Amino acid sequence: MPAAPALEAKTALPLQSAHGQLAEAIDFLGYPEGQHAMLRTSRREMTVSVPLRRDNGEIELLTGHRVQHNISRGPAKGGIRFHPGVDLDEVRALAMWMTWKCALIDVPYGGAKGGVAIDPTGYSKDELERLTRRFTSEIMPILGPEKDIPAPDIGTDEQTMAWIMDTFSVNHGHTIPAVVTGKPISIGGSHGRASATSRGVVHCALEAAAERSLRPETCTAAVQGFGKVGAGAATFLAEAGVSVEYVSDQYGALYADGGLDLAALSRHVAATGSVVGFDGADPVSQADLLEADVDILVPAAVEGVITEANAAAVRAKIVVEGANGPTTIPADRILADQGTLVVPDILANAGGVLVSYFEWVQGNQAYWWTKEEVEEKLRVRMISAYREVSDFSRKYGIGLRSAATALAVQRVAEAHRLRGLYP
Ligand code: NAD
Repeated sequence: MPAAPALEAKTALPLQSAHGQLAEAIDFLGYPEGQHAMLRTSRREMTVSVPLRRDNGEIELLTGHRVQHNISRGPAKGGIRFHPGVDLDEVRALAMWMTWKCALIDVPYGGAKGGVAIDPTGYSKDELERLTRRFTSEIMPILGPEKDIPAPDIGTDEQTMAWIMDTFSVNHGHTIPAVVTGKPISIGGSHGRASATSRGVVHCALEAAAERSLRPETCTAAVQGFGKVGAGAATFLAEAGVSVEYVSDQYGALYADGGLDLAALSRHVAATGSVVGFDGADPVSQADLLEADVDILVPAAVEGVITEANAAAVRAKIVVEGANGPTTIPADRILADQGTLVVPDILANAGGVLVSYFEWVQGNQAYWWTKEEVEEKLRVRMISAYREVSDFSRKYGIGLRSAATALAVQRVAEAHRLRGLYP
């Protein structure tokens, strides 16, 4: 693997973006300040110290968070992130976006997020297992299949979920698969979960392309990030006939005229840990990728990559937000002014939480569905969510992001109204 660069500096404050988007939706919906405050503020926040015994015997003290933004529509749901940039405000923003995402695709969940400030690439598997188990036991009081259900995010994977499930189960004296989603299939994971976010991104990209009268076979694409979301999104776009010309990861970016050979690239990444050094393409910069003259741009890495500084240079006709919060609010306005169709994160990357919901339902029922059943349910629900948002946006003459946030906020506010305020 190439030498790791300093992981990206924080280019934007995700909580500012999340608050700004909510404020706009509240304005549009005409809700009073008290209701706005309830929707803006996390329901519960837990910050914990996580002492980790390193393999050399030394102790390193890390910090973790779990934030439940809203639980009015059901248990809190959201990923766990291991990344050096994790802080409480970032987790708050991500938890809020989970609330809107779950409401938007109409699954009976609230929103949560968690994370530990750590660069997992610098730790052994044993160290990551100890870290995960200790973090799980610290936040255990607020976890549970009916309370809060974690899933993978940046820096975590199905193995992490297996450790969380095991730690929770051992402490409760029996196996409780539905406490996490994104588990390995052999211990209760769902078929189709691993690829669900990427497939959802591509369903949205193809719907957006159709709205712009573009046929997939005539489209080109750039995908930033070649992890769980980006690699799948690139592959499924190519399967749909789109020519994927640019991809990148945190180490570098690539371009191939006429489209990348994604199967060969995936083998290269499996062998070396990065897209860098792949023979069948030319190295380019991250800026070249973001500003590429393509039809579809899929930012699928980290937040705050399309900013006031580079939005005007984005030439893609359609931006499909695989990552959470990749576009800052000022950048969003610039993209809207130049006519770029932006499919917002809470819609575009909702496929993962949708199939997480299917996994949780299967876990609760001790039953399973086939990959085909899961993928068909995913396709139907993603396309109908896209069309609901698109219709709402046309009806009120607002962008897709404003429409998605307003629809979602309306659904959460409706739950508040029907449940009433206790006491
Ligand atoms: P991942 O860790 O599997 O992959 C992240 C990828 O981004 C890696 O290829 C990494 O090298 C790359 N990257 C990191 N910093 C970069 C930078 N500055 N420039 C270019 N590339 C960079 O994570 P993931 O699960 O694929 O998540 C990616 C995004 O999608 C995150 O914003 C996450 O919150 C969001 N998301 C993930 C899921 C899911 O199911 N995994 C669901 C919804 C949203």
